[in-house]
Amino acid sequence: MVFQPQPKILICRDDIAKAVDRLACEIERDYQGKQPLLIGVLKGSFVFMADLVRQLDLPLELDFVRLSSYGAAKESSGKVRVVQGLKTPIKGRDVLVIEDIVDTGITISFLLDYLKKKKPASLKLCALTDKPSRHRVPVSIDYLGFTLPNKFIVGYGLDFDERFRNLRDIYAIED
Ligand code: 5GP
Ligand code: MG
Repeated sequence: MVFQPQPKILICRDDIAKAVDRLACEIERDYQGKQPLLIGVLKGSFVFMADLVRQLDLPLELDFVRLSSYGAAKESSGKVRVVQGLKTPIKGRDVLVIEDIVDTGITISFLLDYLKKKKPASLKLCALTDKPSRHRVPVSIDYLGFTLPNKFIVGYGLDFDERFRNLRDIYAIED
């Protein structure tokens, strides 16, 4: 079956831009005098991260991790693997993880545990979106863009089976 998103915008580009500005203000305020390392979770966070870092007037550095993905399914397998690890040592660094979406929370809590073992000075999470009704493990999000209903979303970096990442707004796909 070819999956086509219905033309239903859940979050428009203007609202996304406002949220990115707000998050950047919060992050800039909290990281004054620091040189944070922002770690993007590939692939979904690449658009969000690109917009966010350009609003941040901080001497920041970037790195990326890639975790095992859903493939063509819309449900997490519950098993997470690091597919591409960090190139930057994070011991003693102020680390801020940039994620596109927290769904069950399994992926991000795995990543935060993995990073914590490397002894950063601080470790925080910035997520563009969150589906709290879907959480299966507790996750605390330090900087959050939007709380979502239980819908599958695409656009602004988020895919379904690798498509739709380039859409400028966020769409909800109805089953
Ligand atoms: P979790 O482990 O929290 O269930 O899933 C997190 C990952 O699943 C996200 O980083 C994202 O890659 C994917 N994911 C979860 N919900 C959605 C969604 O609504 N849309 C898209 N495109 N990906 C999602
Ligand atoms: Mg992701």
